[in-house]
Amino acid sequence: MAILPILTVPHPLLLQKARPVREDEFGEALAKRLSDMAETMYAAPGVGLAAPQVGDLRRMLVMDATEEKEDDGRREQAKHLQLVVNPEIVERSRDKIRWEEGCLSVPEFWEFFERPRRVRVKYRDALGAHHDEWFEGFPAVVLQHEMDHLEGVVIIDKASRLKRSRYLKKVKKGVIGAESGAEDDEHEGASL
Ligand SMILES: [Zn+2]
Repeated sequence: MAILPILTVPHPLLLQKARPVREDEFGEALAKRLSDMAETMYAAPGVGLAAPQVGDLRRMLVMDATEEKEDDGRREQAKHLQLVVNPEIVERSRDKIRWEEGCLSVPEFWEFFERPRRVRVKYRDALGAHHDEWFEGFPAVVLQHEMDHLEGVVIIDKASRLKRSRYLKKVKKGVIGAESGAEDDEHEGASL
């Protein structure tokens, strides 16, 4: 296991479209790569990580986004790691979910986005087995966010031009990352 460096904007690899994992790539080496990605995600900490975020331009991602339960006002999150290779959304609900998203590749940036609340996804696992599964609520948000990464899309590209250029200016000046943590406490969401 190894923790991999996470690329942040404006790294050019984050803007590239990832290619499908080939049949001859499924197996132990791919499983090892995905478990390194999972370790990287948990260490960050984050709830999802797509391969392009660690400079690997293949269509795969890891996530652990079990729906939060708020029985006694507290949030609980059971560990439920999913390794998702070559995902394809084959059905989406008309019903939308609005969520404030953050991203490990876009530190200190948060924005509300609307996405389909339920998506049916066909994907492979590390050894190539086929899966067909509905994702709903927060897990659906995380999955769709990570799949945007596979298309070379990061959340600043989906935000307003003004917000995007303000953010990139701050990155250029080196302001981002300088004051760690404090501002993040205002946001309840996890980074994807
Ligand atoms: Zn992200």
